[in-house]
Amino acid sequence: MSRYAAEVAKRRTFAIISHPDAGKTTITERLLLMGQAISVAGTVKSRKSDRHATSDWMAMEQQRGISITTSVMQFPYREHMINLLDTPGHEDFSEDTYRTLTAVDSALMMIDGGKGVEPRTIALMNVCRLRDTPIISFVNKMDRDIRDPIELLDEIEEVLNIKAAPITWPIGCYREFKGVYHLADDSIYVYTAGHGHERTEEKIIQGLDSTEARALLGDRYDDYVEELELVQGACHLFDHDAYLRGEMTPVFFGTALGNFGVNHVLDAFVNWAPAPLSRMTQEREVLPSEEVFSGFVFKIQANMDPRHRDRIAFMRVCSGKYEQGMKMRHVRIKKDIKISDALTFFSSDRERLEDAYAGDIIGLHNHGTIQIGDTFSAGEEMNFIGIPHFAPELFRRVRLKDPLKSKQLRQGLQQLAEEGATQVFFPKRSNDIILGAVGVLQFDVVASRLKEEYKVECLYEPINVYSARWVTSDNKKKLDEFMDKAHEHLSIDGGGHLTYLAPTRVNLNLMEERWPDIEFHATREHH
Ligand code: GDP
Repeated sequence: MSRYAAEVAKRRTFAIISHPDAGKTTITERLLLMGQAISVAGTVKSRKSDRHATSDWMAMEQQRGISITTSVMQFPYREHMINLLDTPGHEDFSEDTYRTLTAVDSALMMIDGGKGVEPRTIALMNVCRLRDTPIISFVNKMDRDIRDPIELLDEIEEVLNIKAAPITWPIGCYREFKGVYHLADDSIYVYTAGHGHERTEEKIIQGLDSTEARALLGDRYDDYVEELELVQGACHLFDHDAYLRGEMTPVFFGTALGNFGVNHVLDAFVNWAPAPLSRMTQEREVLPSEEVFSGFVFKIQANMDPRHRDRIAFMRVCSGKYEQGMKMRHVRIKKDIKISDALTFFSSDRERLEDAYAGDIIGLHNHGTIQIGDTFSAGEEMNFIGIPHFAPELFRRVRLKDPLKSKQLRQGLQQLAEEGATQVFFPKRSNDIILGAVGVLQFDVVASRLKEEYKVECLYEPINVYSARWVTSDNKKKLDEFMDKAHEHLSIDGGGHLTYLAPTRVNLNLMEERWPDIEFHATREHH
């Protein structure tokens, strides 16, 4: 294997999907601890303020320096290089979250053992399904009173429509939580409370039939053996190919807070998760084994100082190697640019990594020329696809405080839409401007940035729109007819695409039924 191929094979790039409070922040810290990126848990600054709406946004802005570097965390583990991509915790930023999921090769799903599958887990799972992303599951909070694990697995299978294969099985919960039994290895990993903040060697008991195992389980031994027989009889056996196809998820149990089971999950990533996968462009498939550089931008984040309009564009390297000072082709604007100061995200103090390989993420300073979905290459004309816009669920009409500033408003909104901060729609029947977002905080961020960066003050008004669908058809005649009939609800979005803004769910269903020749898309590509 060439040195390049070996570097790529070492990479594991994933994100964590979970409902708020399931334990994502906690497990992120523990993962960094296991990767020796930090020495004591508690040093990653909690970004709880992300989550409490509007008034905290300015405080958030000040913390941006931190959040940029914790957006991507790279650390070594067992001769591998892990790239953990953070997704904002607050659902108000879910468009960012969705797009981050286009830049990973697999995901970790956190389930709160006391609560089971929650709404946001379902939404994120649906996004993962767009690319059949392989998913490893972790049932968290075993040190608390949790629901029946068999019931939890059933819920995962039924609600998320994926086969669940337990790899470990918990022994008790809450104060009685003793550890987990590894079903295939016939060994018990013993939990001891109070070591959540350290890396400790866990105690392993070989064989459920051993005297040690009997001593650990005490009175409950027979019941547990019986339970295991039931589990082994009723549950799916882990099938690696089914996992890679996104049809089956291996399930682990543990406690992030107690730092127990986290290493099992990391081992699973190293052993089972895919190394960097290929990505599609409009022109051809790009393989990570290609040594010629390419990548796409999946996220843009405003930098610390909003007055400088400096933003960081996060790029997933899809093939080849990035080195400081190299030249890249910015395909959309047809320019070769020299990148001398890209950010890399190695999370250890011990050394700095300056190179990045397929599967890694780099941050480019963006002075307004980079948009979400942009492709960078070594000269080849190609455009990565699969970095979609998602149909917004919330809408507001924009009103200017100073009517003379409409040019600045349009310019600002255009730019913010290109960055993915919001989506903008221009109705055909009026001169209104309508903003669309997936989460309500997006509106406040946009208003605040318009004021700071474009000196435009605006107000929002409620508007009666339920959802947006991008409209296409192969049948030109029908499309014309549709455009005529549905004129009142049609808009052009910031990218120039025809969009149907449905006033109600019932209306949307009716339209879809009535116009079988028209396609109503819930996502749209950036091109
Ligand atoms: P996030 O919103 O998903 O990032 O969740 P956090 O990591 O912030 O966790 C939410 C709350 O659950 C915090 O109070 C954590 O301390 C707590 N928590 C996380 N993991 C565990 C666990 O394994 N056991 C217990 N008892 N609490 C946990």
